[in-house]
Amino acid sequence: GDHGPSNPGKRRLGVMGGTFDPIHHGHLVAASEVAAQFHLDEVVFVPTGQPWQKTHRRVSAAEDRYLMTVIATAENPQFSVSRIDIDRGGPTYTTDTLRDLKSLNADTDLFFITGADALGQILTWRDVEELFSLAHFIGVTRPGHTLADPGLPEGGVSLVEVPALAISSTDCRARVAKGDPVWYLVPDGVVRYIDKRELYRGE
Ligand code: ATP
Ligand code: MG
Repeated sequence: GDHGPSNPGKRRLGVMGGTFDPIHHGHLVAASEVAAQFHLDEVVFVPTGQPWQKTHRRVSAAEDRYLMTVIATAENPQFSVSRIDIDRGGPTYTTDTLRDLKSLNADTDLFFITGADALGQILTWRDVEELFSLAHFIGVTRPGHTLADPGLPEGGVSLVEVPALAISSTDCRARVAKGDPVWYLVPDGVVRYIDKRELYRGE
């Protein structure tokens, strides 16, 4: 099958960007499946920075989203979490994320993992040419969305089928707000963290 570019001797680092408000099993399965199929050495989860402009909804504090991501990934030796987008501040542009990861990781090929919904927006991203010089893009299936090659540079994107988990952070937040359980949608430690910090209660 398609394993993406193969450069002997180079470390293969997956990059999973997201708001992770909260992180859920859909994110974790996507990262795990791509890591296996593409023979990645590691996947780094990168929670986005805090948007300073008012958006249509309140995004939880970066520190809460970061800690939930750490809790969810801590026991997997192939998973790590990076603070680069949070510490840069402001809204996150994928070019900045990839540029920073590139300079922090010598002799490393980057594989940017994105769900079908987000892949569809790639063409609207700025600096498309630079994005594709920084990383190989991997679009994964997501229930409710069609996975299609958005017509990107030849060989720049791989499409991968991952086990279908119809879970979204939006739905998890709505469930907590209603008092419905999120057990088994998010890792146990994340359920307890949401409870401890009283996240999503008044939404
Ligand atoms: P929200 O509902 O707040 O947008 P989300 O569930 O979409 O949250 P994000 O943090 O926006 O989660 O997503 C981060 C990345 O994970 C995106 O590339 C997204 O497409 C992908 N992703 C999210 N949920 C799934 C899922 N269930 N299956 C596959 N990919 C997913
Ligand atoms: Mg989303």
